[in-house]
This record gives sequence, C-alpha cells and structure tokens, in this order.
Amino acid sequence: MRKQLLFPTLLTGGLLVVAATTGSTHDGGADAATNEIEVSAQPIAVRRDVRSPDPTTTTTAPPPPPTTVPPPPETTTTAPPAPEPEPEPAPEVEIRAGGAIVCPVAGPVEFTDTWGASRSGGRGHQGTDMMADYGTPTVAPVSGTVEHRSSSLGGMSWYVHGDDGDTYYGAHLSGYENEGAGWVEAGTVIGYVGDSGNAAGTPHLHFEYQPGGGSAENSYPLVTAAC
Ligand SMILES: [Zn+2]
Repeated sequence: MRKQLLFPTLLTGGLLVVAATTGSTHDGGADAATNEIEVSAQPIAVRRDVRSPDPTTTTTAPPPPPTTVPPPPETTTTAPPAPEPEPEPAPEVEIRAGGAIVCPVAGPVEFTDTWGASRSGGRGHQGTDMMADYGTPTVAPVSGTVEHRSSSLGGMSWYVHGDDGDTYYGAHLSGYENEGAGWVEAGTVIGYVGDSGNAAGTPHLHFEYQPGGGSAENSYPLVTAAC
C-alpha cells in the first residue's frame, strides 16, 4: 500500500476580499484639474510682446477728455439771471377798492379833504390831492374809456369816462400807461404819479370826480372808501 501523501490541498478558494472597511468611499471630484490646463501661458506671452508698447501710449491719451468737461458752466450762466427780474414789477401795483371805485393810486398814499381850498388865481380846489411817491402806478377807478391829455395846470393827465356815466380825472402824472387803449377795465394801470403841470416838486395825483361828466364834486368820500 502506497502511502498516500496527502498534500494538503491549498484551498485557494477562500479569498475573502474584505471590503469590510465600513462605509463605501465616495469619490469626491477628482476632475477639477482639467480647467487649469487649458490656460497655458504661451498665448499670453506672445500677446504681451505686441501690446507692451501700446498700453503706455493709451494711458497717456485718456487725460484729454477732462479738458472737454468745462461745458457745464454754460448752463449755469444762462438760466439763473432771467427769472429773478420778472417778479419785481408786480408787487408795486396794489389794487384796492371800496364803495363805488377802485383806489386810483395803486400804492402807499395819503390825502386829506381839501375840497374848496384856495388855489392859484382865486380858484377853489376841485379834487383830492393824493400824495404818493413819484412813479407810483395809477389805475382806472372804474371800467370805461380812457383818454390821455395834457394842460398847463394839470400837466400829463388822464380822463376815464366810466361805464357808470361819470368822469374821473387824474393829473400831474410823470408818464402814461395804456395810452390809446380805449376801453379799460377798472384797476388797469393808466399812468404814474408825478409832479407835472403846476405841481413841480410835489408829486401827487390830483383826482377829480365829475358826476355825469359835468361839474366836479368832492372826490374825498370816494377815495376814503376805496383807498
Ligand atoms: Zn389838486
């Protein structure tokens, strides 16, 4: 009997791959490096050689634009001056009214009742002397037709033939306004206080009231109510 050499058979079958290491390993982004490779330095190096002279010249060029900036001052010089002068003239005309008429002096005024007071040549005063600064606007006391006329005593004067049938007379003006206007509305500026005629040195408006266009009556009650 041959001794059976019992070679221990190598049972290779039992390779236990122990992937037992707990948990599966997740592959974290290993692809990130691909982008960096494309940016090779070669093309850049070529470009720099060409551009290097340019950048210096281009940087010097930009400065000129600032010198073209000055234009802004033009807008500031044109606009502001105009609007200011306009509002000034308006406040001078102060329209007041009361009773039957508008106050013929459109500004600060003072007067007393001098009806019948003695005047040159033995005349009695036929109106109210309304003392006001030279140049103060005078206005139509009622709506009607305005007429400008001058005389030695009254100087530059206006007449308003009112729609109410009465005539109003203002004298000693320094200037006319709305000359030849014809019909004007009450309160329309028709002249300016002055000292023409026999009022030299004493600027005022001599104001007469002539009912029905006839003889003058005392205008003091009218202006007292209106001014
Ligand atoms: Zn007078």
